[in-house]
Amino acid sequence: MSLYLEQIRQLVSLQRVDDAIHDVEMELEQAPKELEALKTRFAAVDAQRERVLEKLAHLKEQEKRINGEIDDDSSRIRKSRNKMMQVSNSREYQAMAREMDNMERVNRSREEERAALLEEKMRQDAALREVDASWADLKAEMESKQISLDARLEAARQKRAELEEMRKAAGAEVPRPVLDRYEFIRRRLPHPVIVSVTAGVCSGCQISIPPQTFIELQSGHKIINCPNCQRLIYWVEHFKEDNADPEAAEQAATEE
Ligand SMILES: [Zn+2]
Repeated sequence: MSLYLEQIRQLVSLQRVDDAIHDVEMELEQAPKELEALKTRFAAVDAQRERVLEKLAHLKEQEKRINGEIDDDSSRIRKSRNKMMQVSNSREYQAMAREMDNMERVNRSREEERAALLEEKMRQDAALREVDASWADLKAEMESKQISLDARLEAARQKRAELEEMRKAAGAEVPRPVLDRYEFIRRRLPHPVIVSVTAGVCSGCQISIPPQTFIELQSGHKIINCPNCQRLIYWVEHFKEDNADPEAAEQAATEE
């Protein structure tokens, strides 16, 4: 295998390890976000539940007040009725009857208010049952997600540590100046560093490389950067991972 192809192979191997590291980094970044999204949803439902509970507490207070008032009125009406039995003067009797009418009217409007209150309370009770169901579901989901997240993160960290070891080994194979070029790009560009060129198109940026550069790339003598995205490029015919046939690649590289 030519030196050029050997270096491309080494860089692609290093890239594969970096691909795996990149996936793990994404997992480490993404997994907590899923829990965060769930926490946000839970917080919204929790706030909604609090509002319903507040309304119910308020309704309960009002109910207590109005029950007290209705009781007071009833005993007052009862007393007045007893008094009415004792008056003999008809004028006094009529004044008392008017007063009783008034009290009964007030009492009726209180009964109506109480009925409206009870109706509202039933509505809020139903709302509470509904919100309670999704509240409990979300809480359970959040708790299990927290547990699985810890396991996921732990697994990802472990995998990253293994990959870092593999990376050291893969990097050690690459000659220093070539590795430096790779690392230089890795620090400055988004993943990945080395990409294939198929039918004259860079798979890193999906842009055609100039014909002259493509001819140079096909000749397979030195490692070239994509003139557009600056990633390291190799001709797909030189290096196919799936049907890796070094002989064929070698031949392609030396044919001019
Ligand atoms: Zn490119």
